[in-house]
Amino acid sequence: SIPLGYFGGIGLASRNGILFKGSNFLDVMTKINTVIMDKTGTLTKGVFKVQEIKTAALSKEELVSLAAAIEANSTHPIAKAVVEYAGNQDKSVKAENVEEISGHGLKGSVNGKTVLAGNVKLLKKFNVQYPSEVDNLVDTVVVLAVDNQYAGYITIADEIKEDAKEAIERMHSLKLQTVMLSGDKQAVVDKVAKTLGIDQAFGDLLPDGKVEKVQGFKNAGSRIAFVGDGVNDAPVVALADAGIAMGGLGSDATIETADIVIQNDQPSKITTAIRVGKITNRVVW
Ligand code: ADP
Ligand code: MG
Repeated sequence: SIPLGYFGGIGLASRNGILFKGSNFLDVMTKINTVIMDKTGTLTKGVFKVQEIKTAALSKEELVSLAAAIEANSTHPIAKAVVEYAGNQDKSVKAENVEEISGHGLKGSVNGKTVLAGNVKLLKKFNVQYPSEVDNLVDTVVVLAVDNQYAGYITIADEIKEDAKEAIERMHSLKLQTVMLSGDKQAVVDKVAKTLGIDQAFGDLLPDGKVEKVQGFKNAGSRIAFVGDGVNDAPVVALADAGIAMGGLGSDATIETADIVIQNDQPSKITTAIRVGKITNRVVW
């Protein structure tokens, strides 16, 4: 039979907007010593806004319509920012055969021309040369190429969540090691990690790279809580000792795979979940 304290723990968590999918995860929480977090949508709001447009060949309007036509086929937060920015611009531009290349971006065809929209890894994959200024940008960037010729870039920025810094401080006061993983550029990742005081941060990761990093921490003996939101986070959520999903912005796959769901997406709830586990553990006798 399940001791009464567990029901109390699950209820206490639920009153704090935290869903535990089983009482066993209350126990798991008492053993966690490392919290690994995704960046976009977990520590940042995951709502991007276009900042700057730089073109090489086309006009700014043409570059934006081209990008929006391609990005209209993706649900990625980056794609949403580009489509929103394009707003009422020329809607006659239509993209066909658009494919999403995980961790890279999109490839499609517009008026018979092949268009790439994604990060520099995508351009490298297709051997497209681009100016070095693109590598030096400290913002998230969508780079565009038309028929394998660099066409320009659009920078976009996301905001750190209001309680993210406090969340990290609470983790450190509980002696937890903090780690951030992201598919975004290392320069962007470093900037966020420095602002929040996160111990270790790894960027430029493909979805498999996130799995490898978490496995590496597990092999080194760490007990891990992983917190994520995106579709690509589901495998890592499954691998962690405690898989935590952001319930508001989170993808269905990640929420379904998670052991624990934070319903209002606040990172400060991560330590609340850990503390509920510890309190419950003390009253289960
Ligand atoms: P993350 O959630 O950490 O950003 P993803 O694997 O979803 O990880 O994306 C990794 C990177 O791939 C993004 O930061 C971006 O550079 C690029 N990318 C993915 N999807 C798109 C897209 N639809 N448009 C442009 N770039 C994209
Ligand atoms: Mg994400």
